[in-house]
Amino acid sequence: MIFRDGEPDIRVGLVEGEKEIEGFLEGPYELDGILVTNVPFRVVVEGGRLVLTVKGEVKGKSKQWTCTPKSDVSTLSLSGVTIGRKFHWERTEKQLFRGTVSFFWDEGALIAVNRLPLEQYLEIVVSSEMSDRAPEEFLKAHAVIARSWAGRILSAEADGSSMEMVPREGEFIRWYDWTGHGNFDVCGDDHCQRYQGIGRMKTGKAAQAVRDTRGLFLIFAGKICDARYHKACGGRTELFSSAWDAREVPYIKSVSCGERDFSAIGNEREAEDWIRSHPPAFCGVKEKGILESILNEYDRETEDFFRWEVTYSREELTAMVKEKSGIDFGRIEALLPLARGPSGRIYRLEIRGSRRNVIVGKELEIRRWLSPTHLLSSAFIVKVAGDTFRIKGAGWGHGVGLCQIGAAVMASLDWDFTRILSHYFPSTSLYRLY
Ligand SMILES: [Zn+2]
Ligand SMILES: [Zn+2]
Repeated sequence: MIFRDGEPDIRVGLVEGEKEIEGFLEGPYELDGILVTNVPFRVVVEGGRLVLTVKGEVKGKSKQWTCTPKSDVSTLSLSGVTIGRKFHWERTEKQLFRGTVSFFWDEGALIAVNRLPLEQYLEIVVSSEMSDRAPEEFLKAHAVIARSWAGRILSAEADGSSMEMVPREGEFIRWYDWTGHGNFDVCGDDHCQRYQGIGRMKTGKAAQAVRDTRGLFLIFAGKICDARYHKACGGRTELFSSAWDAREVPYIKSVSCGERDFSAIGNEREAEDWIRSHPPAFCGVKEKGILESILNEYDRETEDFFRWEVTYSREELTAMVKEKSGIDFGRIEALLPLARGPSGRIYRLEIRGSRRNVIVGKELEIRRWLSPTHLLSSAFIVKVAGDTFRIKGAGWGHGVGLCQIGAAVMASLDWDFTRILSHYFPSTSLYRLY
């Protein structure tokens, strides 16, 4: 039995490293043994303690404050929560939560942790990751993926390694796999899964999809699967080893994201043809109506994700790569792909400069070095004309596992969620674990 006691609780880190936070308790809450209703509050770090102010009145100093809801409709809001940290969609917003919220003092800063049952957490995750106007079967597939991802952490089966480097002269190969958090199980941002409060639940459809699939997990060989997902594969999904460590995950294969079988990329010529073409892939959908029903409003700001292009002057590129990598290449002369996965994503790229040449990988590190934020993906080709570098690319994200936009389009073509899941995760099964 993976979950001996039935549905587990999950602890979600909402805020970390801040010096103060403000919010509002709507409906009845118990706060430090006292019942309060509809009150604004503020928590400020002062020395080794957290000072709590309720309705402008200082209540006391403590290492920890806990707000426990006393009714089903009680909600706690927090102002100024950062989402999309270090990505191009970074911003702060006000978020609304259910369940118990505790504020902890931790090494001179404060942490806010929301504890709630796993299924309630999933209702918010599925609404935060995608628009809850998306097709039902897609939302169900997403619920199973999100549940499996979180369930694997709660069952202590996650074994990610954070960052690895192969210290060979002239090489810089890193990856950033998931690593745990000390004070809670998962954070609420893109590092784990987006958990942006109940304000994202607009129609109740995402919550319904979670209820319809309650307790269902993706299983392979008796264990919960490491169910990775990304925004758009670009026509073909990627292998685990192009993004993280070089092991084979038996249920993560490179598969076509379409009715037709697109062949895997084997060389530079094929990469060029693939990236310049617009194959009839599920995630290559152009209809705005479909995208509007799938993506949250701030993800819709990224318009061309299936095939895209960015242009840099040599000067811009040289300055940016120096800043992002901390390496002085002199003048950048060329970007040469050395190894690509079957989706066309580069996982070893040689950067040639007038002072030195360096090999960089894997896919995320390449995307970090070649953009002020992150390049949409590492499936790209580079054309240099005079002092202009044109980077043409395909897809959005690492490309491993389930393609969110592709899966949503499949659902709009009447694929049910079990068929969608077995397409992206071949040879897995679904089991109800509570
Ligand atoms: Zn996290
Ligand atoms: Zn796709």
